[in-house]
Amino acid sequence: MTTKPAIRLRDYIRTIPDFPKAGINFKDISPLLANGEAFSECTSELAVHMPEHIDAIVGIESRGFLFGAALAQLTSVGFVPIRKPGKLPAATHAIAYELEYGTDILEIHRDALNHGHSVVIVDDLLATGGTAAATIKLVEQLGAKVAACLFVIELDFLHGRSKLGNTPTFSLLHYND
Ligand code: AMP
Repeated sequence: MTTKPAIRLRDYIRTIPDFPKAGINFKDISPLLANGEAFSECTSELAVHMPEHIDAIVGIESRGFLFGAALAQLTSVGFVPIRKPGKLPAATHAIAYELEYGTDILEIHRDALNHGHSVVIVDDLLATGGTAAATIKLVEQLGAKVAACLFVIELDFLHGRSKLGNTPTFSLLHYND
């Protein structure tokens, strides 16, 4: 009897040097998304880190939608999108956060979460941690609490998790370049 070789998620991430600008090693998840077994394995591995009694999975635009929605489906938990400004149609709550140059804004629907809700934040990649830290604040401003942050990839050398305080944080793959 032959057993299928285990899927190594790392084999489905490709690094594109100098994208979108010189000096950035862009981690491209397209090969992972394109392979049904790898995408499914990735979602299952994220699910291992889901705490119990979660009311919502909060996904960050845009690649956080892909993994967040897949995880929400697998675990039968609802999905809440965090979007760039001007995209959400109903009343929103916004947060501005610092980028390397300038600031950016993220928004959530005000009625997306209730006081006391326990949520999991999902994104494809943790770099400096600015995006995830802003998302934690946004969720907390609605009275909900973040039980965990889940990422497919973490760039360890940028120490992004240090911006996430005591929030339990799990990443499936770690890179140092
Ligand atoms: P940060 O706020 O610095 O943690 O950046 C995280 C966000 O930027 C995530 O939503 C990622 O999709 C994106 N990102 C940052 N650096 C990279 C990279 N090297 N490759 C791919 N995406 C990245």
